[in-house]
Amino acid sequence: MGQGIIIKCKKCNYEFEAIEGIGMMFDDLMNVMDGLPEYMQKEIKQLVEQNNLLTYNSFFDSDRKDLLFENRIFVHPATGRMTVKLYVELYNPEAKELLYKTIYKTKGGKEYKMIRISDAKNMMCPKCKKQTLYESGPILWD
Ligand SMILES: [Zn+2]
Repeated sequence: MGQGIIIKCKKCNYEFEAIEGIGMMFDDLMNVMDGLPEYMQKEIKQLVEQNNLLTYNSFFDSDRKDLLFENRIFVHPATGRMTVKLYVELYNPEAKELLYKTIYKTKGGKEYKMIRISDAKNMMCPKCKKQTLYESGPILWD
């Protein structure tokens, strides 16, 4: 269900497990929120309650387009370091209006950039600061 690749640097020992998508635990948003900062969990729970949102994965119900939650890759705006984090979008079921999306920020308030897995090898190596990354192989995860 999810995708994963190992990204390595040709010049140094930098290695990153790039992962995107959903795993086995992703049947309900409430089961995978533990990794989020507490203030985000609070905000999401509040929106879910106020708007009576469904939190099981819309993956199992193709008519629903009101919820997205999956692992995505985020790049630190200053260091270029990549991390895998949970990304959530919540929509108002009637209006199809975006109510919430996860934005990660540094302590200084700068936004992390969200990239797709296919772009991970095109990022600069956070150690060498050069375009020296390549895709070394797949990872299986769930
Ligand atoms: Zn490097």
